Amino acid sequence: MHNNRTGGVAGPVAALINEFSKLPTIGPKTAARLVFYLLARSRQDAEALADAIIALKDRVRLCSRCFSITEEDPCEICTDPQRDVALLCVVAEAKDIYALERTSAYHGRYHVLGGLISPMDGIGPAQLRVAELIARIASEGCSEVIVATNPNAEGEATALYLSRLIAPSNVAVTRLAYGLPIGGDLDYADEVTLAKALEGRRSLA
Ligand SMILES: [Zn+2]
Repeated sequence: MHNNRTGGVAGPVAALINEFSKLPTIGPKTAARLVFYLLARSRQDAEALADAIIALKDRVRLCSRCFSITEEDPCEICTDPQRDVALLCVVAEAKDIYALERTSAYHGRYHVLGGLISPMDGIGPAQLRVAELIARIASEGCSEVIVATNPNAEGEATALYLSRLIAPSNVAVTRLAYGLPIGGDLDYADEVTLAKALEGRRSLA
């Protein structure tokens, strides 16, 4: 965004419009709408928003077991005795866990890879938490690994790689069923579609 687009408004207004414009899906118009909305709210409301943003950076860290984001380590999901330890769902990013949890259709645990295999971007298994995944499969007694990567080239390549790697270990490897929008993001899929994709998962190994 160019500065002249916000010319004529007070400096702090222009600055916050500029910050909001950097966020995904927020264009300059929406950014301006948010800023003028906040301007009309109380100081208390503004502080609550500012504090919540700072708390993200100060209090959120990675779970040392599943590499999801958490305040307590290990995270709530890893320490939940109600979770089925036989199921381990592999996702690219922590935000995918959020999408899958919304479905209420999954009761196992997760493992966050930290990305997907993408040779063009120089990302191979060594750049992802693959070794940690293999160690967990060996030590946590899981019987099925569900690969819940996005239905795109990188997601498929990662699923294939993992299925070959895990195949010798006598653990079933499954993949989310199609029906998910091809090339789409897991976290944009609605709950029903995602729950069905989980339910209809197919064997890879
Ligand atoms: Zn965890």
